[in-house]
Amino acid sequence: MAYSFDPSFPQQARQNVLRGIQRWNQVLGDCLPLQPRQRNDRDYINVVNGGGCFSMIGKVGGGQTLSLGVNGCLYRGTVIHEFLHAAGLIHTQKRPDRDNFITMHWGNIVESWKSQFTKESDRDIGKYTEYDIYSIMHYTTRHPQWSIGNRPGFTPRNSNVDTRRIGTGDDFAQSDVSAIRRMYRCPERKFNAITNSNNRNQGDKERKPILCSNV
Ligand SMILES: [Zn+2]
Repeated sequence: MAYSFDPSFPQQARQNVLRGIQRWNQVLGDCLPLQPRQRNDRDYINVVNGGGCFSMIGKVGGGQTLSLGVNGCLYRGTVIHEFLHAAGLIHTQKRPDRDNFITMHWGNIVESWKSQFTKESDRDIGKYTEYDIYSIMHYTTRHPQWSIGNRPGFTPRNSNVDTRRIGTGDDFAQSDVSAIRRMYRCPERKFNAITNSNNRNQGDKERKPILCSNV
């Protein structure tokens, strides 16, 4: 996938984005590399400093926007998350089979964010991997932006799930890599996750919940 930085994207912040891109290419460079746009690339991802973290889903054609707002989106996990959208993945909690894995608490979700939890049936996600609650594409159980009174928008059905790990990753989950490899018909390859500093028992202060609002 070709990418470019919007001319107005701050130079300093590009280094943060490039670290995420570098990690992407370590893991998926043999399958779906991210490469700087060349003159003849008609389709490309244009990275902008927008109001938040969001991306279009899959290839749209031409220049498509991927927003990494410099206030809150420059984490490695968020960069990977947004490019996974551009590659075709939707949020895990929108999978048609999600009710087998999480229980929704609609009353705890701000109205304008409810669409982030509606199920999708016509997307590729769900076709390639089992539901993975630790996917980097899964929402956190709660977030100041969208949960009312800091109450959870959903709870995992499996009581063994570590809720602090949900939606706080800063690297791919195996399932994310597998989904892309299958979607793009690439061979499976061994993947070693970076020890996720967000997932150590450091308390919530150290965690960086991914916040992404796609439409
Ligand atoms: Zn997202």
